[in-house]
Amino acid sequence: MPSQEVKEIFEAMGLVAPTDVEGGLAVEDPSCGEIIARVAQDDREAAMAKVAAAHAAFLRLREVPGPVRGELVRRIGERLRQHKEPLARLVTAEMGKGIAEALGEVQEMIDICDFATGLSRSLGGRTMLSERPGHRMFEQWHPVGSVLCITAFNFPVAVWAWNAALAFVCGDPVVWKPSLKTPLTAMATHALLQPVLAEAGHGDAMQLVIGPDVEVAQALVDDPRFPLVSATGSCAMGRKVGPRVAARLGRTLLELGGNNAIIVDATADLDLAARAIAFGAAGTAGQRCTTTRRLLVAESVADALVRKVVGAYQQLAERIGDPRDPANLVGPLIDADARDQYVAAIERIEADGGEILVGGRVLDRSGYYVVPTVVAVPEGKEFPLMDQETFAPILYVRRFGTDDLDGAIAVQNQVEQGLSSAIFTDSVRAAERFWSPAGSDCGIANVNLGTSGAEIGGAFGGEKATGGGRESGSDAWKAYMRRQTCTVNGSNALPLAQGIRWE
Ligand code: NAD
Repeated sequence: MPSQEVKEIFEAMGLVAPTDVEGGLAVEDPSCGEIIARVAQDDREAAMAKVAAAHAAFLRLREVPGPVRGELVRRIGERLRQHKEPLARLVTAEMGKGIAEALGEVQEMIDICDFATGLSRSLGGRTMLSERPGHRMFEQWHPVGSVLCITAFNFPVAVWAWNAALAFVCGDPVVWKPSLKTPLTAMATHALLQPVLAEAGHGDAMQLVIGPDVEVAQALVDDPRFPLVSATGSCAMGRKVGPRVAARLGRTLLELGGNNAIIVDATADLDLAARAIAFGAAGTAGQRCTTTRRLLVAESVADALVRKVVGAYQQLAERIGDPRDPANLVGPLIDADARDQYVAAIERIEADGGEILVGGRVLDRSGYYVVPTVVAVPEGKEFPLMDQETFAPILYVRRFGTDDLDGAIAVQNQVEQGLSSAIFTDSVRAAERFWSPAGSDCGIANVNLGTSGAEIGGAFGGEKATGGGRESGSDAWKAYMRRQTCTVNGSNALPLAQGIRWE
């Protein structure tokens, strides 16, 4: 039987919790390490049947007018509004993020539905002036086909929604392959929202496949019925998925790892910076792709800032605990593996001469709780660990010469990922330098706010090993459509482009 809490949450949404399957996929509550459900997985054959159904749905959905598809997404958003609280509680129970952050995650799903609904009446192409008399050129956008959406554990529902809301208004079915660490939230989301499409005769456009990476997920990745594979997760996963899709000349939208830095210069408001650093580095227990992992601080303000940050962390250490309690600001890591990686990183930090200013230990209680950690890296020495993404709340602090902003930007840019970045400064010149072409090489560059907590209105994603994909706002919708350039000749002649004469 699934746990009482899981049963109650499903019931609160008007759903029945999935029955336990002997030998099924074990779902753990990271706040106590107990198994809360054992769910069935799809085998390859079942997964392929879902792909076929999605493809058949595409052939119908592509002919539904965009604003009508928008209306479906509006209803999906309404349904999420009605069930926001229990869905957030499930995110907390299964993934372990604090309830306030889980509510924010479901709100993000609602926001992207609103955004996509609006888009459904405004998606459009440009017209271009033709060089030929009596000719007109324009471009139009058509649905691209079924989208395979692979998601990570840390945003177990929002990332799907970023993709799905846009894909649906663009006319594309979505086959969702969630993380095997968070299948329950995916099952609940699917059970809650799929009927909205089913009532309109498009139920097969929303599919959920829960299955192992090699036997099932990889077969999906290889399937040409997915012209677009949108995959969110580690760089290691992207390095496997990207080349497979490329080999069949499909398109990918990759949202991979980050190793994000905040630069604090000598003019910065240090109180503001310290608060943003604490939230960016310790929020979601350091398990956001946009988590602040490196702090680069000007020598002249370094002591004062580090004092403030360490002070904030000492207060945080009192607020680690059950993510269901809104008084707690830091919940557990996702599982024992994640905790072991944190422990291994701490051992390596000490071996490499890093100074642990605060944290650096596991809490002695059930569940996977670790203390958010600040590390001063030795000056004038390389510190390779700082350039890797350890998916845990570890913040490295490095000082830079007070007038050497370019040096700090170079350190920021030296990592393989290029997701999010921020500078705290009161200097217009420093801010302009930071986001100039010679500045941050990341997909996100903020001034006087932290690296995490993006809004859905902007295009979200990063460069280099982060994968180059863009999701969510701005014109990210273009990834989910195919572009067609059209020229029409309204004259009686047949002039050729470039003045070519062929008579
Ligand atoms: P992960 O790479 O372990 O898994 C991500 C997803 O990929 C899961 O659904 C997994 O089952 C699937 N997967 C793994 N190998 C696969 C394969 N060979 N074929 C097909 N699918 C495969 O990542 P995780 O631990 O769930 O999440 C943490 C990572 O995700 C971090 O690196 C984090 O930075 C990144 N992330 C990035 C973003 C972003 O928007 N850039 C957002 C969230 C998380």
